[in-house]
Amino acid sequence: MRIGAHVRNSENPLGEAEDLDVDLLQLFLTDPQKWNKPVVGSGLEAVRDSAVDIVVHSSYVINVASLNNRIRIPSRKAVAQQAEVAAEVGALGLVVHGGHVRDGEDPAEGVANWRKLFERQAESGGFAVPIWIENTAGGDFAMARRFDAIARLWDAVGEFGAGFCLDTCHAWAGGEDLVDAVERAKAITGRIDLVHLNNSRDEFDSARDRHANLESGEIEAEVLAAVAAAADAPVMLETPADGMKDDVAYLRSL
Ligand SMILES: [Zn+2]
Repeated sequence: MRIGAHVRNSENPLGEAEDLDVDLLQLFLTDPQKWNKPVVGSGLEAVRDSAVDIVVHSSYVINVASLNNRIRIPSRKAVAQQAEVAAEVGALGLVVHGGHVRDGEDPAEGVANWRKLFERQAESGGFAVPIWIENTAGGDFAMARRFDAIARLWDAVGEFGAGFCLDTCHAWAGGEDLVDAVERAKAITGRIDLVHLNNSRDEFDSARDRHANLESGEIEAEVLAAVAAAADAPVMLETPADGMKDDVAYLRSL
């Protein structure tokens, strides 16, 4: 099992990888809450030049599905831009949240916007790195909360080679049973490219997105371990930093 860790706001991500004893890191390229251009800082350069592999998590402000031009258009641009910079640092893929339309809007239009993202980019040769769409926890108008919605999304984007990132906290909080989640997700997407292995601070179907360390949330740690084993994909911890070392140790002990 390949184990990685998401590192936030770090001056020295390579040092953190060494400290955590992982050879895979997930990073943001810019402040995830802002529309700033992605930059390759010295910390990221050091990771690029090392044996540690990189996954890039795109900014949270991105919402490719949005019916609002002032969100969707910059979102498209940001995905392309962040994919380009991700390629510059040799990243394995770019994680992008499924996004949502607003309450009362037609989710089918959001799905169509996802398709347009890939269609337009295909005209210029596709994205610079694989795009891995991540399931999210909340909202009734989300593109990738419930698996039936993911199936509709995949009908639209699957042919473009879209990848899938399964977040265990989001699936649980989104109301999807984790016991057979890998099997069901693969039946829809045909693939799992990355697992965001997180416990949840909140109960099943809470729609809340609050990650917990593997042995301290609402999900039984054994269930998380089983997902990690079944997925046959790299596992990325996005758990609270204080307990991350213990999370790595727990996974290694299995
Ligand atoms: Zn995640």
